[in-house]
Amino acid sequence: MIIEFPGTRGEIEESSAEHKYHSSLIIRYKKTGALIDFGLKYNPQLINKINDFDFILITHAHPDHYIWTVEDEDRINIPVYLTRIALDYGKYKPKDYRIFQTGKKYSLKCLDITIYKVIHSLRCPAVGYKIKGDKTIIYAPDIVDFEEDKGTVLKDVDLLIADGSSLNINMVRRKEGKLFGHTRVKTIIEWCKKYNIGSLIVTHCGKQIVNMDKKELASRLEEYTGGKIDAIVAYDGYRMEL
Ligand SMILES: [Zn+2]
Ligand SMILES: [Zn+2]
Repeated sequence: MIIEFPGTRGEIEESSAEHKYHSSLIIRYKKTGALIDFGLKYNPQLINKINDFDFILITHAHPDHYIWTVEDEDRINIPVYLTRIALDYGKYKPKDYRIFQTGKKYSLKCLDITIYKVIHSLRCPAVGYKIKGDKTIIYAPDIVDFEEDKGTVLKDVDLLIADGSSLNINMVRRKEGKLFGHTRVKTIIEWCKKYNIGSLIVTHCGKQIVNMDKKELASRLEEYTGGKIDAIVAYDGYRMEL
């Protein structure tokens, strides 16, 4: 399985050479090519070959993940999978949209994909994807927590790819008893320890990570993981083979 990050930037004003484009993920496994999320500021390298992917998965309808919320994009002919609630939130719609049910497992070409509800936005509910080929990864770029028990969701996961909106600053808010926002990388590292996930890749980088000195960031990650988890911050164009 090969994964690649065309973009790693969250919904922030700041941008850097390493975090210029909105977060998305490419997965290649056997003959399957999948793209997760296609936001407003997508990597321009994506568009020319976009129809070579087998499908696109959308986590939620915030415009940094789903361009159709604010702009029409009619060059994309491949299936775009999303929840009904995400589809209805957008002003525009992909040409070939397909509705996913949360809590279900789908086999799309060579990949098994399970959709989990995540706590993130009250108006724009989000999901995280568990994707299984020869390895199992989770992609949850915007998350306060999983709605379902993490013992189930994070079982037998090789790699967690998750929200870098904040390293250690509280970005969780509450309205009428409901949480929304983004959890901290520090907390995500604790999930990895508790549920035996050996590798973490941080994406959807927020202001704190984008502005932080590289050495400082590395030493914070080292401190939080205690050397037990292999944790890195992805950058635009980062590619790895699992
Ligand atoms: Zn986002
Ligand atoms: Zn969001």
